[in-house]
Amino acid sequence: MSTENLHRTIVRGIGVSPGRAAARVAQFAGDIPPPDADAQLGPDADLEEAAATIQTHAVKVAEELTSAADSASGDAAEILATTAQMAADPTLVQVAQGKVRDQRKTPARAVWEAADGIADQLAALGGYMAERVRDVQDVRNRVVASLLDLPMPGIPHRPEPFVLLAQDLAPADTALLDPAKVRAIVTAEGGPTSHTAILARSLGIPAVVGAAEALEKLPDDTLVLVDGAAGTATVDPTEEEVAAAEALSAQVRTFDGQGRTSDGHHVELLANVGEPAGARKAAEAGAEGVGLFRTEFCFLDRAEEPGIAEQVKEYRKVLAAFPGKKVVVRTLDAGADKPMPFLTDTAEPNPALGVRGLRTSWRNPKILDNQLTAIAEAAAAEDAEVWVMAPMVATVQETEEFVASCAKHGLQHAGVMVEVPSAALLSGPILARAAFASIGTNDLTQYTMAADRLLGSLASLSDTFHPAVLRMVQETCRGGDQQRRPVGVCGEAAADPATAVVLVGLGVSSLSMSPRSLADVAAVLEATSYAQCQEIAQLALTAESAEHARALVRGRLPILDELGL
Ligand code: PEP
Ligand code: MG
Repeated sequence: MSTENLHRTIVRGIGVSPGRAAARVAQFAGDIPPPDADAQLGPDADLEEAAATIQTHAVKVAEELTSAADSASGDAAEILATTAQMAADPTLVQVAQGKVRDQRKTPARAVWEAADGIADQLAALGGYMAERVRDVQDVRNRVVASLLDLPMPGIPHRPEPFVLLAQDLAPADTALLDPAKVRAIVTAEGGPTSHTAILARSLGIPAVVGAAEALEKLPDDTLVLVDGAAGTATVDPTEEEVAAAEALSAQVRTFDGQGRTSDGHHVELLANVGEPAGARKAAEAGAEGVGLFRTEFCFLDRAEEPGIAEQVKEYRKVLAAFPGKKVVVRTLDAGADKPMPFLTDTAEPNPALGVRGLRTSWRNPKILDNQLTAIAEAAAAEDAEVWVMAPMVATVQETEEFVASCAKHGLQHAGVMVEVPSAALLSGPILARAAFASIGTNDLTQYTMAADRLLGSLASLSDTFHPAVLRMVQETCRGGDQQRRPVGVCGEAAADPATAVVLVGLGVSSLSMSPRSLADVAAVLEATSYAQCQEIAQLALTAESAEHARALVRGRLPILDELGL
């Protein structure tokens, strides 16, 4: 090892989205604290000059946002342009200037209070107007940051591609990242199956989460090489390392559109999608269908229930990408890290164990009913074969009620997600009612191991390779066998080629994953016979820990190393 290697800084976390990329760090600034409410401009202050600074900084923010919108694309460009328009709207500036002149407020405090007043008015109007509250707050934060010379909040905008560094990222922020600009993500917090990790994977952005030292050791503008499989960020990589990373990311494996073992046992390889553009990409990647359409991803951040017509429009776009193919539509899975104000109560002390997923329909049956109406309408208008499933089912009774509600809407292919241990253990009676089960290994791992999936510090427990979790999968497949109903997996574990072999060996008939993982999983299955999958699965079940199970499985699959997986 060279001296340089001995001394260089490597920040370690959990690799959640594979790939390597090198670029300079740009930090995502946290929230702006409210400026002091009691601060007043002194008797000698020039109030007109103070009021004029508000106008100057608002114009500057609007110009920056417009130029960021011009260099962005897709959803990100649209959102930036809307925020720029809001920053250019004179109302905020005029109200804030009034507070400087009449109440001697400091310009920053005046902007803060003026924006809060506007936000309250919008919230009271409800509907589309209420959804603009976040935009007003965004503009407020930017103008205040500019006035106080603080780092600009939100996703940074740089002319060059960069590595995004953050304490943590909300799924709503991650969904807007432009992969052409954001080469990699490093966060100090976050767990391996958080929705931010899932979104990073689906965008194809290498990501490392739970890197506790990242903020301290990776200052803005540092050149880093991020390895999203190994979970590392290396400061000042050598030219050779950067070139090797670029060469690796240029290698592309492709998927021919049918998953199978080496002896021809068909394993359906499906895609997880969150919105229409993702569905089109999934179809291009050769997915045999959609195994999980996370409908809530279309409406993250909405203050109010989306109307039926709007839902139909969104769902149709996803179904249209898969004519004649299966699309499993999951009803809204609100809660935990995907709060939806019209369905969930953010004051719950323990949201992962609270009223989330299907449970939200206990209080709001009409919202589920409206969604099923929209799904049925979209299904009737398109050629895809629509299956529907409910998230977070825990009991036989819930299954029965959900299947009955679907039948009322003419949706005959109704199934459940198995993400709660009770559902895994009751899969026999559950599958006597439901047409199919899809195992959500992200939540099933979380609830089996009692380890919050969002916490990087519990990542060692959040591992689907744990034999306790594998036994839950085995039990679910046993129920499927008894009732002759298909059992699939749509959690992140399906995207890991080693785990995929085990899942197939346990009896799972379909694997649904981020489209980018299809080719890797297909390549490993194609090199393994069905009997080998079964034998390897039984071997994994004999292990006493996740590390042991993984080592046993990898030891039987040399193809993983040959393919660099
Ligand atoms: C899961 O829990 O595995 C799953 C697929 O659902 P989500 O990740 O959206 O909770
Ligand atoms: Mg889940």
